Amino acid sequence: MSFSSRVKEELAYQTGAAMHCRIAETAAILSLCGKITKDELERISIKVHTENLSVARKYFTLLKKTYNIECNVCVRSHMHTGKSRTYILEVRDDTAARKVLASVKMMNDGEEFAADYTKVDPLILRKACCKRAFLRGAFLCAGSISEPEKTYHFEIVCTSFERAQQICDMMKVFNIDGKWILRKKYHVVYIKEASQIVDILNVMEAHVSLMELENIRILKEMRNSVNRRVNCETANISKTVSAAVKQIEDITYIRDTVGFGELTDGLREIAQLRLEYPEASLVELGNLLSIPVGKSGVNHRLRKLSFLADELRTRG
Ligand SMILES: [Zn+2]
Repeated sequence: MSFSSRVKEELAYQTGAAMHCRIAETAAILSLCGKITKDELERISIKVHTENLSVARKYFTLLKKTYNIECNVCVRSHMHTGKSRTYILEVRDDTAARKVLASVKMMNDGEEFAADYTKVDPLILRKACCKRAFLRGAFLCAGSISEPEKTYHFEIVCTSFERAQQICDMMKVFNIDGKWILRKKYHVVYIKEASQIVDILNVMEAHVSLMELENIRILKEMRNSVNRRVNCETANISKTVSAAVKQIEDITYIRDTVGFGELTDGLREIAQLRLEYPEASLVELGNLLSIPVGKSGVNHRLRKLSFLADELRTRG
């Protein structure tokens, strides 16, 4: 199961205790995946389509707990297309449907339902707890989170600019800086920063998922710092190797031009050892000498040899 599905599953069971919060969450679901229809006898029905079982479960619970309405549930399988199931939850009873729509303020007193129910009436979202509930409902219906092992990305896909903006504004109340982008015909609200994704999980009250994300974040940071250290060590090794290559080049040049005859005993010995043990470190070379010297002593002699080689090159 993906991280996104796990968050949704957790949120499906997270329902506000207060009536106002449950209304706010119902409003989010209706405005993001609801469809209101009126038949020839002016009877109203509400349908919610979703491919996500968590959304279906949440909406069903909300209707039952908040309005004491049992909706009809119909499951459509798409075996032939290989797609997942679609759950269709329907409130067919006119009185019940009107009751729900009036509570979420999608229908005014004159019994006209709001032409554009994409933007939810701010009156039902005044309290902070209701904003949390709304964001939770919106994420359940139209949101997703990437696998935190790979990348940090949270988004809610909206069909109108107004709704995207409303969601961004609501996030701002919790100090979350939701960005907005147009993707094809969709208005996508997204968050890229890990710490902000942690914040939004907190706002939606997905506490188990929040802990999971934090754990992954810590592991990732540790892994990165280990990698940085390894890279640094690798860089040091390649520096050592290229230094040795240069020393061998210089020593070979001296040998092939003037020979080792002119060199002092100390220089000659280190020159021969370097050629003989190209992979040895300076400390190891120092220990191989007839009179061992330390790292800086070896370095000093090798630098003299390089200097000599450079002199020979400019002369030659
Ligand atoms: Zn509330």
